[in-house]
Amino acid sequence: MITASPGTRITPAGDWRQQWRDAVTDPRELLALLGMEHMADRLPEADAGFALRVPRAFVARMRPGDADDPLLLQVLPQLAELDWVEGYATDAVGDLAAREAQGVLHKYQGRALLIASGSCAINCRYCFRRHFPYGEEMAAAGQWRQALDHLRRDPGITELILSGGDPLALSTRKLIELTDGLADLPQVNRLRLHTRLPVVLPDRIDGPLVGWLSTLPLQKVVVLHANHAREVDRGVAEACRRLREAGCTLLNQAVLLRGINDHSAALAELSEALFAIGVLPYYLHQLDRVQGAAHFEVDDARALALMDDLRGRLPGYLVPRLVREVPGAPSKLPL
Ligand SMILES: *Cc1c(COP(=O)(O)O)cnc(C)c1O
Ligand code: SF4
Repeated sequence: MITASPGTRITPAGDWRQQWRDAVTDPRELLALLGMEHMADRLPEADAGFALRVPRAFVARMRPGDADDPLLLQVLPQLAELDWVEGYATDAVGDLAAREAQGVLHKYQGRALLIASGSCAINCRYCFRRHFPYGEEMAAAGQWRQALDHLRRDPGITELILSGGDPLALSTRKLIELTDGLADLPQVNRLRLHTRLPVVLPDRIDGPLVGWLSTLPLQKVVVLHANHAREVDRGVAEACRRLREAGCTLLNQAVLLRGINDHSAALAELSEALFAIGVLPYYLHQLDRVQGAAHFEVDDARALALMDDLRGRLPGYLVPRLVREVPGAPSKLPL
């Protein structure tokens, strides 16, 4: 039974922009929506510079009254975030060093990654984004000029990855502007989107977006981000159906998170839930060591044991690759 105070509601209303603006940003409201006002005294007094943000469509999948809910734990600020932990950085993956032009990260052969947007519909507490100086880094600035110039100078780049932040935070018109700019770059034959929006705000996959993707003369890969089977509901299934109909190959990357998905049963359920909606597991990331996220870390020995167990439970194609991002490495590194 939800005992939300008057005037609060869980279910989303309106189009995706409206839902974006209407996200829950007050931890006390979130707890009230879930009937857990009593937990308010466990909230940190400050938000450590990274505010709570969660769309109502995602809140609706949380279990009222459950302080250990795996969706809630991904977004609720915790006191542990304020601890300074040795060995955890503010630029954990070397992004500032790999920058080649405004918003362009080119670390791996053949693939360039654009920080298309600094915004996300949700703020995940374990995210490296909590420290990234997005203000100066958006590839979409100036009609994508610097990013397109970079691609033009390097004919070895055949795949363009839009990441962020969340690239689908941009208007569809802005995305069309980019792909129009690719017209004179025939070597770029693949477009990849790294986005959590189909999961956390599935109404973003609307008619205009699907129309844009359907007509692109490129191969399209959408890499979603879901960490727990309970994130997958009918809205997410519908968003994925539309993306597949638009010709996208769907993959998922998850982060291994203590207390959220660090059990082989939970990981197996996630793979099964994803496959049921046409999504293949891709990467399972070891946490990037960012300040404020140390309490989510699972040590390598345990992570490897989980993977062994997972291989015993699932067909090989449903087992994600356990990887870590190491600054300066030529790819994500398998553990
Ligand atoms: C993770 C990442 C990629 C993508 O790597 P894949 O192994 O192809 O998924 C590309 N560029 C950068 C900068 C990245 O961080
Ligand atoms: S959606 Fe991705 S980039 Fe955005 S806060 Fe969550 S983990 Fe970070």
